[in-house]
Amino acid sequence: MDSRLPETSREKLEAWLRYYDDLGLGEFFTGRRAMGKRSVKTPAVPLQTAATATPAATSAATAAASTSTIQGAPARILPVVPATSLFEAIDRVEGDTLELVRENLGECTRCRLHKQRNKIVFGAGNPRAELVFVGEGPGHDEDVQGLPFVGRAGKLLTQMIEAMGLEREDVYICNVVKCRPPENRKPEDDEVATCSPYLYRQLDVIAPKAIVCLGGVAAQTLLKTKDPISRFRGTWFDFRNTKLLATYHPAYLLRNPNAKGEVWKDLQKVMSFLGLKPRNPSR
Ligand code: URA
Repeated sequence: MDSRLPETSREKLEAWLRYYDDLGLGEFFTGRRAMGKRSVKTPAVPLQTAATATPAATSAATAAASTSTIQGAPARILPVVPATSLFEAIDRVEGDTLELVRENLGECTRCRLHKQRNKIVFGAGNPRAELVFVGEGPGHDEDVQGLPFVGRAGKLLTQMIEAMGLEREDVYICNVVKCRPPENRKPEDDEVATCSPYLYRQLDVIAPKAIVCLGGVAAQTLLKTKDPISRFRGTWFDFRNTKLLATYHPAYLLRNPNAKGEVWKDLQKVMSFLGLKPRNPSR
């Protein structure tokens, strides 16, 4: 499957595959899981509050009828995938490992970002982490070292992780794109489309209990929305059998320290979900 197909072709191909799947016609790919409905995973839908998130409520959300609110304001309805995409199923690689994902990525030249990169920043941390942080893409320091979040924003992320009662080594940290966009610009849609299948595979292999998207690019990529992150940060979503929550990027916090309180509230939700206790500041 060429993940670089233009959107219209992908849609046509998806419709075609769905049709064949509906007819019960067999597997099309080797080394991939069957695409039958039984292997289908939960689409990314906004969850209502834990108290109200019944299957019916969730399917109502799936039908794009979520009534959840964000900080008192009616939440904008995110475009949700009505049924699990066949691409989700076929993107899953049987017996996948992080080593295999890295090997398949190779010395990637699939998009223009390779031209100016120094090092590919694949990701780092605990391969069995319960918590994964997903950022946007490497910056200068990350490009030099080949490691995610090692610059100024990274130091702030480390503080946030430690405040949650964890160490950096406990979690896994990666990005939507693995090569530094020139001048730290936002990655373009085609760059995201080319690189994100490797992120999906990383997330599928690690299978964490929770994913925290740092900033709009990560959140919009995984939730397949163009809505600004301010509309849905701090809200739990179902994402490929995992819970996902978006919060502001640490680089945004460096520019807007007043937003730290909101991010801390978001992280407290993650802590309570994972049963984490905040670190004693005297340590
Ligand atoms: N910002 C990101 O989004 N990722 C990094 O790895 C570093 C800075």
